[in-house]
Amino acid sequence: MTGVFRDLPGQDAVVAQLRRAAAGAAALLAGQRPEPGAMTHAWLFTGPPGSGRSVAARAFAAALLCPSGGCGECPSCHQVLAGTHADLLLVRPEGLSYGVKQTRDLVLRAAGKPTGGRWQIVLFEDADRCTEQAANALLKAIEEPAARTVWLLCAPSAEDLVPTIRSRCRVVTLVVPSSSAVAQVLIDRDGIEPGRALAAARAAQGHVGRARRLALDASAAKRRADVLRMPSSVTSLGSALSAAATLVRTAEEEAKAVTEELDEPEREALRRAFGEGSSGKGVAKAMRGMAGAMKDLEDRQKSRATRVKRDTLDQALLELALFYRDILVVQLDADVELANDPASLRKLASSSTPESTLRRLAAIMHCRELLTLNVAPLLAVEEMTLSLSEG
Ligand SMILES: [Zn+2]
Repeated sequence: MTGVFRDLPGQDAVVAQLRRAAAGAAALLAGQRPEPGAMTHAWLFTGPPGSGRSVAARAFAAALLCPSGGCGECPSCHQVLAGTHADLLLVRPEGLSYGVKQTRDLVLRAAGKPTGGRWQIVLFEDADRCTEQAANALLKAIEEPAARTVWLLCAPSAEDLVPTIRSRCRVVTLVVPSSSAVAQVLIDRDGIEPGRALAAARAAQGHVGRARRLALDASAAKRRADVLRMPSSVTSLGSALSAAATLVRTAEEEAKAVTEELDEPEREALRRAFGEGSSGKGVAKAMRGMAGAMKDLEDRQKSRATRVKRDTLDQALLELALFYRDILVVQLDADVELANDPASLRKLASSSTPESTLRRLAAIMHCRELLTLNVAPLLAVEEMTLSLSEG
């Protein structure tokens, strides 16, 4: 697959639908009659984590804004993929959810005319994190759309949005791509050796970005290995407690690595915007204004750090759950593709029963639930590792 849709392995039906819509949109711009029903102004991209919801939405945005329907090569395509295109508003929740103010500001900006003369696109990642008031503000905008504005919402499933919004969007459902389709992307685009690409693709369960990180970033691979050592190491109260501490610390370190990478460039951009380092009239005054803006930015960065920490710990728990699922697959001799190396599963599979594996899986899911209820991470994880250690 070529152009902006090339990062969507195994999503042929979705890609065909989006290409048709982009062609319809281009026909509208050219004053021609588009294929009936091909294009609409509000879209909802759904699919399990890692299936590529936001990748698909971003690719569609690029296809709408590109003069050649998403070539992947022109300045417009590059800007969309880098998130810097003037007609693309990329929205992520500032804290754990979208507030009403953030959404209202956005609705106002979305009503503007596209600077490039094509479309004004608003891409909402994690639209399921809208507060009720934010959802109401959003609904108004989708109900009475500006002529050239396209809304792209992403959420795990259509049920995660209130029915009033859901019913006004065309739903695009992504599937989990097969490991071999993901591996092929790593081989073709990143030049990763096939065996390694397939192992990473299996471990990432169809998540292209994560598979790429596991194959290319040694520290990500090491953190995963640390998480997966836990099942065989929690054999006593002491080891369970120390495993819990390690798991929470590892997730925090990973989250820190992710957010630090984002934080400094943002602060740098803000300083530049306020003209730090330059001299002349008005600079002193601007510098005073910068202090307030910097404080705002740091507050937002702090709440993002909280969110990333939570997501990262959840990712580790899902990996652990996948490990026990694989153990269960081995125990039941089921015909399911394993995410983990079979050699790492055999010993635990033969020394425990399917019943205890199911109980352990339930303990992990319970821990995830506690974390969404804001229970202190270490407490929730300790409770889980204690259950894992009981045979
Ligand atoms: Zn292009």
